[in-house]
Amino acid sequence: MAAERTATGILSVDRLLGGGLETDSITEIYGEGGSGKTLFCLEVAVRIARAGKWVVYIDTEGVSVDRLRAIAGPDLERLLERFLLSSPKSLEEQGRAVATACALVRDGKRPVGLIVVDSGTFYYRLSLSGPDEDDARQALSLTVADLVATALQSGVPALFTNQVWRSMREGTLEPLGGSFLNHAAKTILRFDRLSGNRRRVVLVKHRSLPEGTAEFRITSTGLDGGGPG
Ligand code: ATP
Ligand code: MG
Repeated sequence: MAAERTATGILSVDRLLGGGLETDSITEIYGEGGSGKTLFCLEVAVRIARAGKWVVYIDTEGVSVDRLRAIAGPDLERLLERFLLSSPKSLEEQGRAVATACALVRDGKRPVGLIVVDSGTFYYRLSLSGPDEDDARQALSLTVADLVATALQSGVPALFTNQVWRSMREGTLEPLGGSFLNHAAKTILRFDRLSGNRRRVVLVKHRSLPEGTAEFRITSTGLDGGGPG
């Protein structure tokens, strides 16, 4: 049976993904700074809230209210009533925020349509190459496993953004969050910066679709993936 999809509203990306985000799994987005990961998460979150569902948004970067206002327009205050925003200050707090989000989804009292963790690897990165690296890796894996189980049981998609490191040998940008994340995420997208406001989306991994690419532009009111067709 084909997995259900939640449309992102960015037409080129929805075409690339066969309709949108799979609802029973995690979608990982990795890419360099400024590649549009956060704007993508905000855009999808606003769309879900506009459709009447709740959004759990776990933010380690400090969401820009100006950007949110630009995307949401005059509806912002009304949409924010369905945003459950948390700003963890450590990897432990991030883990607790995800656990709370998953419990909320499972108890089913509110119709949650999306969980966002952006950036999912900000605090993890701080622990790398230090004495806490193993603990951090385990904490991140448990958090990701929580999201996987919740998406699978409840059919609520999760967006998890991941930072990158540059492989000097290969000259490529590689995702940071370790191999556990790369197995746990059933869809993996890489965002690349092109010239100006253009961004490329590369479908790196999907359970049922071939690799492919799409483009969008960052505009003053959100992300534009072109018209249908
Ligand atoms: P990071 O890894 O640092 O969190 P990110 O991938 O989340 O980065 P975003 O914050 O989503 O990146 O995107 C910021 C990018 O969007 C910047 O390159 C910025 O120049 C661009 N941008 C922001 N507003 C506009 C706008 N109104 N028009 C065109 N480009 C814009
Ligand atoms: Mg960001």
